[in-house]
Amino acid sequence: MSVAAAITEEKTSPAQATAGRFGAYGGRYVPETLMAALEELEVAYAAAQADPAFHAELNGLLHTYAGRPTALYYAKRLSETLGGAKIYLKREDLLHTGAHKINNALGQGLLAKRMGKQRIIAETGAGQHGVATATVCALLGLDCVIYMGQEDMQRQEPNVYRMRLLGAEVRGVTGGSATLKDAINEAMRDWVTNVRSTYYVLGSALGSHPYPTMVRNFHRVISIEARQQILEAEGKLPDAIIACVGGGSNAIGAFYEFLPDTSVELIGVEAGGRGTGLGEHAARFQKIGGGTPGVLQGTYSYVLQNDAGQISSTHSVSAGLDYASVGPEHAMLHDSGRASYVSCSDDAALKAVVTLSRTEGIIPALESAHAVAEAIRIAPTRSQTDIIMVNLSGRGDKDMGILARELDLKGASDVS
Ligand SMILES: *Cc1c(COP(=O)(O)O)cnc(C)c1O
Repeated sequence: MSVAAAITEEKTSPAQATAGRFGAYGGRYVPETLMAALEELEVAYAAAQADPAFHAELNGLLHTYAGRPTALYYAKRLSETLGGAKIYLKREDLLHTGAHKINNALGQGLLAKRMGKQRIIAETGAGQHGVATATVCALLGLDCVIYMGQEDMQRQEPNVYRMRLLGAEVRGVTGGSATLKDAINEAMRDWVTNVRSTYYVLGSALGSHPYPTMVRNFHRVISIEARQQILEAEGKLPDAIIACVGGGSNAIGAFYEFLPDTSVELIGVEAGGRGTGLGEHAARFQKIGGGTPGVLQGTYSYVLQNDAGQISSTHSVSAGLDYASVGPEHAMLHDSGRASYVSCSDDAALKAVVTLSRTEGIIPALESAHAVAEAIRIAPTRSQTDIIMVNLSGRGDKDMGILARELDLKGASDVS
């Protein structure tokens, strides 16, 4: 469906024309068979949001099961080594299952249960969302099917074993580039077929309304905590917040409570991959060779596509950032200038993994390392009274295979 046709269709209902919109972006571009499911979800989510019992149960699990609140840690040795701004890390990597994804998986898992859906499906890229969903299904006694690209299954093999151990069925997807986009296609196909019994746990602030809003709200807790924590630690707000942007869920969660604080610079970091040409990266907001507005997988946002509207292939060393589109709220923040978006190459991210590991004893996920790399780049240019907060979205355990290969850890005496 062309963008123009999709927009015309959206305008058939005036109420729907604004529902789930972030400026011009967002919306609901799905086949008719999924419209009813999305409306059912929207109603159920609104009811859950208004129900104190839902929040009490979710907050209880976030606290006792997932490990919230996560620490806000002053990275003293890293900051002093760089010799500029003070760098703080919001430690989402310390959460159960190793990344921020559990915030959203718990929220949607409880919602599915409320809706009486016994069967859960999800897509996964890096495997972190699949692991988080499989975990929540085990916790809540729900059946779980995870779609994952074959390419990603190879890159993130330990996570495949984790999901199976947790009782989930992992279905490999071979179509297209066999990565996240193709896994989402398969999950959507499954949902169309089994819509009555099945709840689709979407893993990022992507897709059709109400997902981008709902997923953001489940991750808002990151900035709610961080705002209070930095005020306690420093008596002022940070000067900049940096987060990596795949679909955009950890970034929007880390940004959200700071949106009205215009003194706080918000910086999203996309995957710069191995070059600036289409196909070499996943930097949707890159000025040349980047994305343009279009529809992918149910939402209108920036999309990496060629002149004919064919979705471009993408590349990143980190599976979690390797996606051709981006959450629609980021598209709005980009256009308005409230947030800025930069990219970081595979090489710079790999270097940042080593730097953070050796200055702080913290091994970041390759995705998170993109945000760390940007902090490493800008901190020396800032004053020592400046504060930079990095959202450390996950830990690097899942990446050990790639790190061992890319950093030559298999016997060489040094890698610096
Ligand atoms: C999945 C993942 C990401 C990317 O997803 P967003 O929705 O952009 O946050 C980033 N970091 C880690 C550790 C992940 O697992």
